[in-house]
Amino acid sequence: MERERNAWVMASEAERQEIEALGRKYIKFLNRAKTERETVSYLREKLKKKDFVDLKDLNELRPGQRVFINHKGKAAVAAVIGEKPFIEGFNIVASHTDTPRLDLKPVPLYEDAGMALFKTHYYGGIKKYQWPALPLSMHGIVVKKRGEKIEINIGEDEDDPVFTITDLLIHLAKDQMEKKMSEGITGEDLNVLVGSLPLEPGPEKDKIKAAIKKILQERYNIEDEDFSSAEIQMVPAMKAREVGFDRSLIGGYGQDDRVCVFTSFRALLDVSVPSRTAICVFADKEEIGSVGNTGLRSFLLENAVIDLMNKNGHADYYQVMLALRNSYALSADVNGALDPNYEGAFDKRNSSIIGQGVALTKYTGSRGKVESNDANPEYLARIRRLFDDHGVAWQVGELGKVDQGGGGTVAYLLSRYGMEVVDCGPALLGMHSPFEVAAKADIYAAYKAYRVFMQEFE
Ligand code: MN
Ligand code: MN
Repeated sequence: MERERNAWVMASEAERQEIEALGRKYIKFLNRAKTERETVSYLREKLKKKDFVDLKDLNELRPGQRVFINHKGKAAVAAVIGEKPFIEGFNIVASHTDTPRLDLKPVPLYEDAGMALFKTHYYGGIKKYQWPALPLSMHGIVVKKRGEKIEINIGEDEDDPVFTITDLLIHLAKDQMEKKMSEGITGEDLNVLVGSLPLEPGPEKDKIKAAIKKILQERYNIEDEDFSSAEIQMVPAMKAREVGFDRSLIGGYGQDDRVCVFTSFRALLDVSVPSRTAICVFADKEEIGSVGNTGLRSFLLENAVIDLMNKNGHADYYQVMLALRNSYALSADVNGALDPNYEGAFDKRNSSIIGQGVALTKYTGSRGKVESNDANPEYLARIRRLFDDHGVAWQVGELGKVDQGGGGTVAYLLSRYGMEVVDCGPALLGMHSPFEVAAKADIYAAYKAYRVFMQEFE
């Protein structure tokens, strides 16, 4: 008989309750953390409550000690110290905090045709046509010339206003509808409506822009030029919700990759004195190639390991690299679930199915696995056994048909150290859309996979 594959059916009655409880917490998290900064601030707050201490405040590390490193407020590392010396390696789960969105340009505000608007520059892989005709909220920070930081979060409260990008009325869309989908809405068309009331009495020209400037100044202490030292993101203002008559799914923005951030963080909370030190990496900038000093292409991970190792005596380059080489990792990122609406894009026999557990993905990449980490079968076999031994619902994943496109994760960056690494995360429907969908049972399977990996994998 073929083994049961549905993660919900595989779960015990007690586990079904855990699936629901985790889902409820996850929805709250998604509604609170819509940017990398909000994600890191959520993690800091929750980790502190669970006895994780800022590594800076410790002089020595003992087995069982729980620590975190906040990296510029946009990335973070958290760890539970294990019994073995660091040099024998870590069990690492690496996810990413950033999500596709629309960033404001440095000179965003202008007036046209009775409206004030903001110019945007999209971040990461988006289908531009998905962004008009949605309520949008505004998140981020503005740093004043003297260093004062102003936090922006407008559009999440029921009483807040929202913003939007208007779409062209169908009545006049003849030319637009004949364009390719990639050209129907262009990057420069993604301008956000932010107001329409003129200043009175005011200047002859740009009275509406002047009125918005006044509001920004009076209410938020933001001057026009302050946008040049700001990071402001427009994201969907919709709340995450349960989906389906049976409430088995969760829909919401930013699940790639906050589903892995959340599940790996929850898993780490439940790890106690592991054999090898357990580390969660929450990296930024994955969606644009892991670049910048908060992305995993930087020395973020080495620096975290040096900081850890130096707490117990001076660590040299050899020791740091040896510890990393001796490590094992799960690259915690999402895969695309088989979607019957777009069957032609998938290889049915090799795609992940929603609700069938966490996906183990040997390779990603495109045009013949280009730029993917191609996990070693010796390591994959050990992970399979670990998951089967601990009742983790898992399935294989491959991102769609061979020549259909592709994508990447941080796996290849971790593999540079010589550590074993494989991609492992839930499969989503509508990945990178403003409303991505995951199955509750898969979210729980990811949590369990990361927990048993960090706690048990030897
Ligand atoms: Mn991702
Ligand atoms: Mn992505």
